[in-house]
Amino acid sequence: MADIIKLLPDHVANQIAAGEVVQRPASVVKELLENAIDAGATLIKLIVKDGGKALLQVVDNGKGMSETDARLSFERHATSKISSAQDLFNLQTKGFRGEALASIAAIAHVDMLTRIEDMEVGTHIKIEGSKVVSQEVVATPKGTSISVKNLFFNIPARRNFLKSNQVELRHITDEFHRVALVHPNIEFHFYNNGSEIFNLPKVNYRQRIAHVFGSRMTERLVPVEEETEVVNISGFICKPEYAKKSRGEQFFFANNRFIKSPYLHHAVVVAFEGLIKPDAFPGYFIYLEVDPKSIDINIHPTKTEVKFDDEHALYAMLRSTIKHSLGQFNVAPILDFEH
Ligand code: ADP
Ligand code: MG
Repeated sequence: MADIIKLLPDHVANQIAAGEVVQRPASVVKELLENAIDAGATLIKLIVKDGGKALLQVVDNGKGMSETDARLSFERHATSKISSAQDLFNLQTKGFRGEALASIAAIAHVDMLTRIEDMEVGTHIKIEGSKVVSQEVVATPKGTSISVKNLFFNIPARRNFLKSNQVELRHITDEFHRVALVHPNIEFHFYNNGSEIFNLPKVNYRQRIAHVFGSRMTERLVPVEEETEVVNISGFICKPEYAKKSRGEQFFFANNRFIKSPYLHHAVVVAFEGLIKPDAFPGYFIYLEVDPKSIDINIHPTKTEVKFDDEHALYAMLRSTIKHSLGQFNVAPILDFEH
């Protein structure tokens, strides 16, 4: 017997994929919120208990799933969002990998209720560690509710690695902010241990930032606006006098998706040069809109790192746009770095 290679069973493959997609409760929250948005929800509730260790639940009023789709949604590489490799270059949705639900169901106890609008009844599915425990026809509101309990129940090393409830809640809140800030047209409610910690009505971008970070934010924001062939830039920077010593509110979004970009961050910092102390961080909420063909989102499973075709042009435009806004709104205080 010289042959030793075998195909891994699905539940093992799912568990391996889960290691990349689900690092902590906040990763589950990100995936569930994104699915709710892709489903066209206008109202989304996030319910968290004990930093997500006891419960993570997302309830949406989106399009829901048929009975067959409800079951299929937990299979790996099962997605309604793309159907060919070509679609990868024209992504309109947050999801496309068809991995999140399969991964989550591989390492937790999942309870899903879902109904599509034109059906009278919906589907209730329970899955534990990739195994379907039950599937029933039920009466349930239109939309989808997914509860996740006992995260990492079958991966003790991961479970032990989780931080305090407070730290996990902070990570969850960060993910919530990232989603809420880019979808001001969606109403969000966020409950932690039974009390509502965010109640975000439908508003515009500026008001959403104020609802998330407090009304004192409104007077700090300076609008940023530029349209070119390569990119549409919009959003806000915080006035230089509010720059912080610690990393504060710094958000880039590309095509409605939160992204991390040390490179573009540098462009902002350079634009602020001379206006803030060298060790201070400027605050910003920058929304970039580029041709979906010119951005590659598929370089990392969590999709927060992306690759732009025109990175250098983007850098230059961002820097000059922010400089322009800072000048136009005459917000440059004279800082004396000697003292
Ligand atoms: P992806 O989002 O990459 O397609 P997921 O594993 O997150 O992969 O979801 C698999 C499929 O399940 C989605 O493509 C979608 O059709 C369906 N789905 C998941 N969550 C929802 C939801 N909240 N409402 C409606 N459909 C959903
Ligand atoms: Mg998804």
